[in-house]
Amino acid sequence: MELGLKGKRAAVAAASAGLGFATAKALADEGARVVICGRDRARVEHAAVRLGHGATGLAIDVSKPEEAARFVREARAALGGLDILITNAGGPPPGTFEDTPLERYPDALALNLLSVVAMCIEAVPGMRAQRFGRVVAITSIAVRQPIPNLILSNTARAGATGFLKTLAREVAKDGVTVNSLQPGLHATARVTQLHGADLSALGATVPAGVVGAPEDFGRVAAFLCSAQARFITGAAIPVDGGAYAGLL
Ligand code: NAD
Repeated sequence: MELGLKGKRAAVAAASAGLGFATAKALADEGARVVICGRDRARVEHAAVRLGHGATGLAIDVSKPEEAARFVREARAALGGLDILITNAGGPPPGTFEDTPLERYPDALALNLLSVVAMCIEAVPGMRAQRFGRVVAITSIAVRQPIPNLILSNTARAGATGFLKTLAREVAKDGVTVNSLQPGLHATARVTQLHGADLSALGATVPAGVVGAPEDFGRVAAFLCSAQARFITGAAIPVDGGAYAGLL
């Protein structure tokens, strides 16, 4: 299927590895012009080379909202405009209610909530003016089903989802769609950090029988950016091999 992504200008945050990289790769392979960011210059530049198709990498840490906004500004300047924004960042440290003091919340909220807000504030007005835009936020299945020992992530991503839903309905008339994708378990550094290198036992807990590949996620994200997906907005979609057990 031709997704209508040729020549579209895309900023993909936190994309030197993992789900961000896989999303950038799926977009670039479909003909989009892609700018990514990551915290480490050498890694992000190397990732841009692996993406091919003229992709470029910026060394920007999106954990501070003003830096997240700067990423969008610099990507837009490099691309001569912006059609697609993928918001993403690393996850916050693990912890339970009992072992997470109040002082640890602001950084997590900056990383996984305010960075999303900042990137959207920077990107969406131009998308509305040109009457085309796609925003896809990488969140977590934890929004539907909070994950034990990830209280910071669970809290920040629920807030981001509320923000995105509100934004989606405000800008839907302008040709701008705003959706989030909720990864379950995909084989990335984040998951091996949390669960160890051997993911086969973990895969057995997923109805699909395996942990997802990052590419399984990236292709879905690219579809949400496509011409065909123009009537999907305000959605929060699990990409989890059936792991989420609820009805809605
Ligand atoms: P990852 O750790 O494998 O990769 C994250 C990428 O983002 C890396 O390239 C890293 O260098 C970059 N990065 C991290 N923090 C950054 C920052 N502050 N600024 C710029 N770049 C930054 O993570 P992943 O598995 O790809 O996950 C992406 C997001 O999805 C994370 O927030 C994670 O918590 C969430 N998530 C992932 C899974 C999964 O199964 N992989 C499941 C649920 C939620």
